[in-house]
Amino acid sequence: MHNKKLIWQIYPANLLIILLAVVIVTWYGTMTIREFHHQQIADNLEARAVLLKGQVLAYISNNDFTGLNQFCIETGKRIATRITVTNAAGSVWADSEEDPSKMENHADRPEIMAALTRRIEPTIRFSTTLQTSMMYVAIPLTNEDDTIGILRTAMEVAAINRTLEGIHTRIGFTAFLAALLAALVSWGIARRISRPLEEMRLGAEKFAQGDLSRQLVLQGSEETADLARAMNHMARELDTRIRTIMNQRNELEAVFSSMVEGVMIVDKNERFLSINKAGARLLRREPEEITGKNIIEIVRNRDLLEFVHQTFETSIPMESEVTLQLPGGEFFFQIHGVRLHSQSGRISGSLFVFNDITKIRRLEQVRRDFVANVSHELRTPLTAIKGFVETLLEGAINEPDDAANFLQIVAKKTDRLNGLVDDLLALSRIEQQSENKNIPLEKEPLVFPLKAAMLTCQDSAKNKEITLELSCPDDLVASINGPLLEQAVVNLLENAVKYSPQGTKVEVEAQKFDNMVHINVKDNGAGISAIHLPRIFERFYRVDEARGGSKDGTGLGLAIVKHIAQAHGGDIKVQSTLEQGSVFSIRLPANY
Ligand code: ADP
Repeated sequence: MHNKKLIWQIYPANLLIILLAVVIVTWYGTMTIREFHHQQIADNLEARAVLLKGQVLAYISNNDFTGLNQFCIETGKRIATRITVTNAAGSVWADSEEDPSKMENHADRPEIMAALTRRIEPTIRFSTTLQTSMMYVAIPLTNEDDTIGILRTAMEVAAINRTLEGIHTRIGFTAFLAALLAALVSWGIARRISRPLEEMRLGAEKFAQGDLSRQLVLQGSEETADLARAMNHMARELDTRIRTIMNQRNELEAVFSSMVEGVMIVDKNERFLSINKAGARLLRREPEEITGKNIIEIVRNRDLLEFVHQTFETSIPMESEVTLQLPGGEFFFQIHGVRLHSQSGRISGSLFVFNDITKIRRLEQVRRDFVANVSHELRTPLTAIKGFVETLLEGAINEPDDAANFLQIVAKKTDRLNGLVDDLLALSRIEQQSENKNIPLEKEPLVFPLKAAMLTCQDSAKNKEITLELSCPDDLVASINGPLLEQAVVNLLENAVKYSPQGTKVEVEAQKFDNMVHINVKDNGAGISAIHLPRIFERFYRVDEARGGSKDGTGLGLAIVKHIAQAHGGDIKVQSTLEQGSVFSIRLPANY
């Protein structure tokens, strides 16, 4: 239903009452004045008749009707009144306006009939003689007790009405002014009543929009002022409460957004109500993309959905681990969930806090793989050693040729074990040092460790008639740890020699390029197939054990090189083509 404004409820009714009152008062006033005026005129006409009566009677008693007529004409003109004299039978003796002989009998005129019965009855009617409305007053002319005639005075009503019209116009004008004034005053009053309420409405709307600092003006009646006071009080209270809530919310938001853990709130329908930045980042999304969506739209994972269901079903905080397939691969999350209740105790949603534990899981896996690999690598030579020692113990020791042969094998396997342990120790030492950042680096020319590495590999190269070439400017300087860099280059050179055919060439070249120092070890050997390249620097990764040569290797050489490069703040890259050769490049920062 459409509600009318208060002013439109008050004002039209007021206006109607005012108009009605004005109309009634005007009408009644006009009527009274008209009546009063008519009465006055009638009295006036009667007084004139009474004044003329004596003279008229004198003419009649002298039977001077011509004189009477003349008298009527003159007097009538002088006092602007029509004067008619009739005998008792109504036949006209004299008239100030008309020739009496032409006038009809007037016995039927009401004022004359009344005068014959000695009553004075003023009458307004149309005069057939003068063709206009007139007011008549007739009085009896008496001689002793006999009525001998009637004296009638009359006045044109138009003249009376003209006077009345003037009065009416003034009354009407005054009434109109009064009505206008009353309407204005009434409008003012209606506004005075409705305006404070209207302002209060506007104020309440502002309050609803959150502008609670505004105060309503205490105006209007006591009741409206009280109402405004109460609303101001309410606004202040609301302001304080909202500020408190906002502060708490801001604090919470600050906590949420600075958390590294993901925090999300899910409603009863498993839709995301909110999620912090870290949470969205962990799910590889933007918070806006997630909010309002159903979990299933964002993460399609049965374990997670199951966990969310479980959280909704119990009041106990839940904990679980889920593996999610997200852009970028597989990620492991530890997730805690707790059911949320509204004030009325109804379940309103669930809160989840989740951590990315992918790194931890991967490290654990690496550690597991590493232990398995080390055990495997150690077991092979150990099994062989054990086998040969047992054979010797079982009697082979008495066969000098076999015994020498077996012992040589045992010695070789022991060397391999030694090599393995050395490599493992070297690797763990480099790792530890580089983790603690205590590998000493010094600015020195590269040429020295490179030359030393070449010398170390000279013999094995010679055995395969492989030429080693070095190209390094003497003034090429970098922040290096000489012995470690030497070991890295030795490892690369040994591989190059190992996997190159007889009589080829292995080059070591160092140069500065793009603010980096590149140390390239280039061979023309077997090369590495592209599928192995990404994993070549992993510990114990060997390309093809059946290809020969690599059986002697520990699979740790390149892992050591990688760690040494990283300890220098650099990295290692490889380019290789099968059957054509490989280039291993250690890149170190020139201004380290
Ligand atoms: P290993 O001690 O077995 O040589 P590395 O970590 O040094 O272990 O090398 C890993 C694997 O990379 C080797 O098994 C070998 O197959 C391959 N590889 C390394 N260097 C070269 C090279 N210059 N040419 C071809 N293959 C190579």
